[in-house]
Amino acid sequence: MPKMPVLFVGHGSPMNAIEDNQYSRGWKSIAERIPKPDVILSVSAHWYTKGTKIMNEPNPETIYDMYGFPKELYEIVYDAPGPPETAKMAKELISKETRYDNSWGIDHGTWSVLVHMYPDRDIPVFQISVDGYAPPEAHYKIGEELRVLREQGVLIFATGNIVHNLRLVDWNMAGEGFDWAYEFDEYIYDNIMNKNHENIISYGKAGDAARLAMPTPDHFYPLLYALGASNEDDNISVYNKSCELGSVSMTAYLWE
Ligand code: ZN
Repeated sequence: MPKMPVLFVGHGSPMNAIEDNQYSRGWKSIAERIPKPDVILSVSAHWYTKGTKIMNEPNPETIYDMYGFPKELYEIVYDAPGPPETAKMAKELISKETRYDNSWGIDHGTWSVLVHMYPDRDIPVFQISVDGYAPPEAHYKIGEELRVLREQGVLIFATGNIVHNLRLVDWNMAGEGFDWAYEFDEYIYDNIMNKNHENIISYGKAGDAARLAMPTPDHFYPLLYALGASNEDDNISVYNKSCELGSVSMTAYLWE
C-alpha cells in the first residue's frame, strides 16, 4: 500500500464549493496527482471545540455552518460514508483525552474542498475537532500521533487558512492581500520549506503580522496537525499560494 500524503488546504470562502476558479482547480489537481485514499481524516477549522472530539458516525450528515450564502450552497450534500473503525484507531492513537461526538457533521471546511477533490463521495470521511483550549504544541502532537495512519491508506486532510482575519476583509481586494498577510504567509512558507516546525508552533515570533493574521487561531491550528503528521523526508508541494480580500491566504501544502 503506498504511503498516503498529508494535505493542508486554505479553503477560503464557502463559495469556492460552487465555483470553478484557480483554487478549486488547484484542489482538483491535487486529487488527480495523489493515490486515492481509503479514508479521509479531516481536521476542520470549523469544528472548534472545548476538548478534542472525534466523529464515528457511519453515515455523517452534511452541515451548513455558514450564513447568508446563496441557496445553491445549502443544497450541497456530501454524503460519503463514515469510517467508524478508523475513527476508533485514531482515538486509540491520540494520547490526549478525546471523546466521540456525533453532534457535528461534515462541515463546509471539509465539503467545500472535497466536492472538487472527490466529487463521487465514495471515500469514507470523518472529522476530528480542533480543541480551542489546547496550546499549539498539543495540536502538533496529535498530528504526530496520527502519522502512522498514512500507512493505512488514510489521507490526513487539514482545512483552514494560514491568514484569516474576517474583520479586516476588504471586498475590493480580490486576489490581493495586505502587506502583513503576505508577510505572515511567507514566514510560514519559509519555515515549512526549511522544515523548521518550531518557528511555526511558536508563530508569535512573527510579531504584528502573526497578530493580524489570526485574531483567533481556529483557522491556523489545522496546519499544525498536518505538520505533525508530515515526515522529515517528505517532498513538499505548494498550491494556491496567494491572498484574497486582503486578509485571507489560500496557500495549500502537500507532503508526500
Ligand atoms: Zn473557514
